[in-house]
Amino acid sequence: MANKIPRVHAREQDAKLRITNFDEVCYGYSADEAVLEASRCLNCKNPRCVNDCPVSIDIPKFISQIAKNDFEKAAETIAQYSSLPAVCGRVCPQESQCEGTCILGIKNEPVAIGKLEKFVADWARENNISFIEKLQDNGKKIAVIGSGPAGLSCAYDLAKIGYNVTIFEALHEAGGVLAYGIPEFRLPKKTVVAHEIENLKKLGVKIETNIIIGRTLTIDQLLDEENFDAVFIGTGAGLPKFMNIRGENLNGVMSANEFLTRTNLMKAFDKSYDTPVYVGKKVVVVGGGNVAMDAARTALRLGSEVTVVYRRTEVELPARREEVIHAKEEGIEFSMLTNPIEILGDNNGWVKEIRCVRCELGEPDASGRRSPVTIPDSEFNIETDVVIMALGTSPNPLISSTTKGLQINKYKCITIDDDGQTSRTGVFAGGDVATGSATVILAMGAGRKAANAIDRFLSHI
Ligand SMILES: Cc1cc2nc3c(=O)[nH]c(=O)nc-3n(C[C@H](O)[C@H](O)[C@H](O)COP(=O)(O)OP(=O)(O)OC[C@H]3O[C@@H](n4cnc5c(N)ncnc54)[C@H](O)[C@@H]3O)c2cc1C
Ligand code: SF4
Repeated sequence: MANKIPRVHAREQDAKLRITNFDEVCYGYSADEAVLEASRCLNCKNPRCVNDCPVSIDIPKFISQIAKNDFEKAAETIAQYSSLPAVCGRVCPQESQCEGTCILGIKNEPVAIGKLEKFVADWARENNISFIEKLQDNGKKIAVIGSGPAGLSCAYDLAKIGYNVTIFEALHEAGGVLAYGIPEFRLPKKTVVAHEIENLKKLGVKIETNIIIGRTLTIDQLLDEENFDAVFIGTGAGLPKFMNIRGENLNGVMSANEFLTRTNLMKAFDKSYDTPVYVGKKVVVVGGGNVAMDAARTALRLGSEVTVVYRRTEVELPARREEVIHAKEEGIEFSMLTNPIEILGDNNGWVKEIRCVRCELGEPDASGRRSPVTIPDSEFNIETDVVIMALGTSPNPLISSTTKGLQINKYKCITIDDDGQTSRTGVFAGGDVATGSATVILAMGAGRKAANAIDRFLSHI
């Protein structure tokens, strides 16, 4: 029976080798491996996997096309739902979405839906196959602010149906977190991210980099002076949180955002660039999400010994399971049930130790997870040269503070309705700027929803 076939595990770079480079960890499937894995799918009549995909990809359809060796049709099926399949196949938290509810997962291992999506998207790119079709220009101009997954998918959907779209991006490269946050070894920039952005340009989307909306130009200027008919805000949640403990202003303390941006965007990992980042011999990363794992594994590859400090247990770690397994295989140390209370410095103002307390788990908090409770008299120090804070982020207030009538909520996120409409007519928003830090696929879904709403809005005025 098809479901008796064990899950085909995707080949990966050996852990000892991969910590010496920034090349992609997962090699993925060969064509034969993909066909074999696809043959495990039961092609369910009521596929639970689809219900748990935030963009409702017809998963059994594309998997059955792979099983029939028809990779082009499989790519065409996915393209109807997702404009960034090579990205989602790599970074989506499939274990808590489609794969988490795959029927095979009840008694066995679920179908490797993510790895199959990655295979198809890579196959289509390597074979120069794309499904880009554009309707005639309708003469209407849309400004998209931010070039992360929310902005890219909003721009893609609007450009396809004839809108004239310009993306304004504050940084010098497009892609948002895909370019500056998620490291090369998880998401290759030149092959995967740049290719997705090229596809957008083929649709006629203009990308203006180094433009900070709220400073270089305001939203009011875009609407009143630059004659844009509508605006989509997809500026993400790039403002890092800190712990507000003593010693956070010492040299050697930084946010994971700064650390990863300097490594990915400023290419600190490449010795031919003159923009290095200081990691020292020992690094402590505080936090337990994907951002913490990315910072830890990046610091390791830059030559440091790395400890991740997390105040709950491994069960509560919010990072993707695969990333935690990879981090452990690579030799990252984890200090669980540990919470920093102070960072100690040397006479020159550089970090030398981080003082922590041990915790135990108490009652569940608002997030439903059991909250850490400090164990009295449990202080201890960890020697370190660098502390990287990966504690979450919130939206930068620049746009909300420079745009009249734009409401935000208590978390500083832009308030939107179900369609992505903000409190300002003609101004839409979506992705992390509206939800707080979430996921690539949710940001994409929000961009797509807002594109539909913008089209409806402009068709009625
Ligand atoms: C290190 C890291 C690892 C992650 N790993 C995963 C993962 O494995 N899986 C997953 O699903 N999600 C992951 N996430 C979360 C995911 O990347 C985000 O949820 C997603 O990128 C949000 O998309 P967005 O388009 O809303 O914003 P972003 O991707 O943040 O893009 C916003 C863009 O807007 C630009 N911008 C901001 N302000 C302005 C302005 N005023 N004017 C012009 N441009 C502006 C920014 O420069 C940026 O390019 C990770 C996040 C980080 C930081
Ligand atoms: S739930 Fe699993 S077995 Fe069923 S269609 Fe989806 S991937 Fe295939």
